[in-house]
Amino acid sequence: MLGPLVKGLAKTFEQLFRKPITIEYPEKKREVSDRFRGHPRLLRDENGRIKCVACHLCETVCPSKAIVVEPEAGETIHEKRPRRFVVDLTRCIFCGFCQEACPKGAIMLNRKYELAQYDKAALVYDKEKLLQD
Ligand code: SF4
Ligand code: SF4
Repeated sequence: MLGPLVKGLAKTFEQLFRKPITIEYPEKKREVSDRFRGHPRLLRDENGRIKCVACHLCETVCPSKAIVVEPEAGETIHEKRPRRFVVDLTRCIFCGFCQEACPKGAIMLNRKYELAQYDKAALVYDKEKLLQD
């Protein structure tokens, strides 16, 4: 009769001295794996200029049509830059195709996973927001 009870208590006490497998989120945040894919962000070059040349490759390759790129008007073909660059995170599936396709290394997936918002519109990232991240 007492045997199973003692066994159960022993098991409970054993757990008290084990390293916890959970963390106190959100105070503590877990490191993501090297293969983790967050949402896309835009990069600047060493002169602080946006690297994107508005070639539309990422927009074309994106399987969920989450990217919209509009080049600035009046620029020469070699100096094209995006006037508007939008990534709709409500559509993005974090596949990384945009990063793979970009010939300029201008778009990269980041390592952020806290994307929850109350407002869906806040998940449509414009150029400025994509450059900040
Ligand atoms: S990660 Fe994939 S789904 Fe998201 S914007 Fe890039 S290509 Fe599109
Ligand atoms: S593929 Fe790269 S350079 Fe071309 S539009 Fe996309 S981010 Fe810009």
